[in-house]
Amino acid sequence: MAERLDVDEVVWTTSSGAPPWLRQTGLALDLDGFVRVDAELRSLSHPNVFAAGDVAALGDPRPKAGVFAVRAGPVLAENIRRALSGKALTAFRPQRSWLVLISLADGRAIADKWGLSVSGRWVNAWKRSIDARFIRRFQR
Ligand SMILES: Cc1cc2nc3c(=O)[nH]c(=O)nc-3n(C[C@H](O)[C@H](O)[C@H](O)COP(=O)(O)OP(=O)(O)OC[C@H]3O[C@@H](n4cnc5c(N)ncnc54)[C@H](O)[C@@H]3O)c2cc1C
Repeated sequence: MAERLDVDEVVWTTSSGAPPWLRQTGLALDLDGFVRVDAELRSLSHPNVFAAGDVAALGDPRPKAGVFAVRAGPVLAENIRRALSGKALTAFRPQRSWLVLISLADGRAIADKWGLSVSGRWVNAWKRSIDARFIRRFQR
């Protein structure tokens, strides 16, 4: 029987979902419908298909987060070039620990790494400086 809980407010968070059309492609997918790839970001079933970022299911999985999508990008681009010219591919090695910065939308943010958390306005300023530095790279 379903449980009933009295609450003041509900915050419902969900993970990312794979596009449903991937199920019609014949590509090897994981149980959640993401494209299964090897360390070189190549589809396990179709070597002429590459996937990176949220849509890719790595053998050594990581959370669906921008940091991994961004870092996989150059490897993806390089490996497509290498595949087209018949060269050996290079592996994407996602980092084992990463900094999580979450805005609290009230001028503060939370930072989490290695199981340690801190929060405050200074964390938000730190997050904004990291984000701004990243965006500036595309404005040159
Ligand atoms: C609200 C929210 C907040 C987040 N905050 C953070 C954060 O603070 N830090 C962090 O690290 N990560 C965060 N993430 C996660 C981060 O946004 C994703 O991990 C990242 O964007 C994944 O990048 P991607 O390029 O793989 O996919 P996406 O950024 O989703 O890009 C996929 C692109 O493909 C396009 N597309 C889809 N289908 C088709 C099609 N059939 N044909 C052509 N184009 C198509 C889409 O329009 C989109 O532009 C957040 C995500 C959300 C939703």
